[in-house]
Amino acid sequence: MSPTQVRIVTSSPAETEALGRRVGGWLRAGDVVALSGDLGAGKTVLARGIAAGVGAFGYVASPTFTLVREYRGPTTVYHVDLYRLDRPQQLDDLGLDEILDGAGIVVIEWAEKASLLLPSEHLWVTIRFVDGDEARELQFTPKGARYVEMVAQLEGRES
Ligand code: ADP
Ligand code: MG
Repeated sequence: MSPTQVRIVTSSPAETEALGRRVGGWLRAGDVVALSGDLGAGKTVLARGIAAGVGAFGYVASPTFTLVREYRGPTTVYHVDLYRLDRPQQLDDLGLDEILDGAGIVVIEWAEKASLLLPSEHLWVTIRFVDGDEARELQFTPKGARYVEMVAQLEGRES
């Protein structure tokens, strides 16, 4: 594990959401959070926490983009879920590059399906099931100095 990576185990959805809120509190326009993990791992729960941390709440289908929902707030959080994406070609139709170039904060589930489109600086989060129904391990891998700093602050203050 790279020294900048941080792993945190949560033991309930509420804990994962709270962790997301802390992450969201640090984010600003243009930031990108990539989420990876099996179905039911907790990506959507984390995304909801992140949006809440940003101060964005109203959750609506994007009027512009398919496979995207938006949390409206001081900064819009674009919640992209690529679960249903089966051909990379569809990424063009989706308008993901437009969203990534835009002024919002972008949170992407199944981000491995769009790894080529991600900006070089982003926060990658992998969520894994661990023993017990409600335990999850969240591995934060920061790409870029700002995210390294962000993740360092997560360490040692496990929620
Ligand atoms: P994904 O988006 O990764 O498919 P969801 O966030 O939609 O997963 O669902 C996660 C499910 O797991 C929810 O039903 C949630 O209540 C449950 N869960 C149990 N423990 C946790 C935990 N520690 N963190 C997040 N979700 C958890
Ligand atoms: Mg999901």
